[in-house]
Amino acid sequence: MGYTGPLADKDRIFTNVYGFQSPDLKAAQARGDWDNTKALMALGQDKIIDEIKASGLRGRGGAGFPTGMKWSFMPKEPKPGKPNFLVINADESEPGSCKDREILRHDPHKLVEGALIAGFAMRARAAYVYVRGEFIEEAAALERAVKEAYGAGLLGKNAAGSGYDYDLFVHRGAGAYICGEETAMLESLEGKMGRPRLKPPFPAGAGLYGCPTTVNNVESIAVVPTILRRGASWFAGFGNPKNEGTKLFQISGHVNTPCVVEETMSISFRELIERHAGGIRGGWDNLLAVIPGGSSVPLVPAAEIMDAPMDFDGLKALGSGLGTAAIIVMDKSTDIVRAISRISYFYKHESCGQCTPCREGTGWMWRIMERLREGEASVDMIDRLHDVTKQVEGHTICALGDAAAWPIQGLIRHFRPELERRIAERNGGGMLEAAE
Ligand code: NAD
Ligand code: SF4
Repeated sequence: MGYTGPLADKDRIFTNVYGFQSPDLKAAQARGDWDNTKALMALGQDKIIDEIKASGLRGRGGAGFPTGMKWSFMPKEPKPGKPNFLVINADESEPGSCKDREILRHDPHKLVEGALIAGFAMRARAAYVYVRGEFIEEAAALERAVKEAYGAGLLGKNAAGSGYDYDLFVHRGAGAYICGEETAMLESLEGKMGRPRLKPPFPAGAGLYGCPTTVNNVESIAVVPTILRRGASWFAGFGNPKNEGTKLFQISGHVNTPCVVEETMSISFRELIERHAGGIRGGWDNLLAVIPGGSSVPLVPAAEIMDAPMDFDGLKALGSGLGTAAIIVMDKSTDIVRAISRISYFYKHESCGQCTPCREGTGWMWRIMERLREGEASVDMIDRLHDVTKQVEGHTICALGDAAAWPIQGLIRHFRPELERRIAERNGGGMLEAAE
């Protein structure tokens, strides 16, 4: 069991997350970035992958897949005409998520250096960073950092004096949430409509232009240089087993001081909020529920979340998930049915329409949610809604279907009495048993 208390300043990876210092190369180097990168690469490709495996790093984009294992799926000897590629997912669009944005704006060199080392480890010829269309300043900051890196010989031929040739391209998205799904992102990079592909094959087998590709989140790549400099055991020393490391948490909603903060994995919810977000608005007794991992995961009611460890497995045990660690706090002033209905609308709007359960189901779910919001429904409609979520969950090409179903399932699981109360109120105290 690793350390789960508050993170000391000396153990922070993102030392410029608030932008108090310049993002430029000189300032980044003063913070330790690009410090003898050549020596890190001299460890060798297999050793780097082993170190990342030993660190316990799990993907920071939401799914938590082991990063080192993902890299090890890439061919060690790329075939002629089929180069390996690294694609970095900077299409951060999950409602509540706003951490990659801070890295791009304030610490872009951590990402660029990480892209070189990670790409080298997986024998990639080049990296593409796919930046969310709305991230105008962020894309500009990243492009400046890339230009500086090329100017200083850190990218391009003989990158950082390592003898390895490596390019990095910045690609701007156009504002579609679905392009954050890794295979839709590959389609979009290829100039096609951003629609998810069926998996398998996973991108390591057939990715960008049919070539072996690894898609990693911005934060997953940006922590790589520090893990290698400080050692896998340092990173693995934080958090509960299988949930190691430090993590950027994004705290929004009804707290006194919303923020993005790097903390120890597995820190308790209460400690995280007290220490960094100034507590719950109106005090802890005023807490209603929390969505702990971005809009795709089910909410957790106040009593269950208070002492929960903020990590993948701890939140899974509560029927929710860490996702991107985008914590949306809702106090008792929240209309919880309206909040979840609004999330339903989001998924209906963002569905690419390619598979029927998602295309039709997201519309159905949102329309029933709106009726329940008004109380203009019968009690059996709650069960019917639950049935629809079950028909969508697990029956779609990509995770958007699940993401649309889970928040509603969480609402029904924890707030069914509130749904029934609205129906009763609307019907003058009684409840309509039959539909329509
Ligand atoms: P996933 O579990 O299908 O895959 C996770 C990663 O592991 C992928 O890169 C996938 O290729 C790889 N993988 C999984 N099984 C594999 C296997 N057997 N062989 C090889 N590779 C394998 O999840 P996903 O659909 O990529 O992501 C869903 C998550 O994305 C959700 O949990 C959600 O929280 C998150 N999300 C994040 C944002 C954001 O803005 N950051 C937006 C939407 C969703
Ligand atoms: Fe498109 Fe939805 Fe199917 Fe994903 S689940 S491929 S978003 S229709």
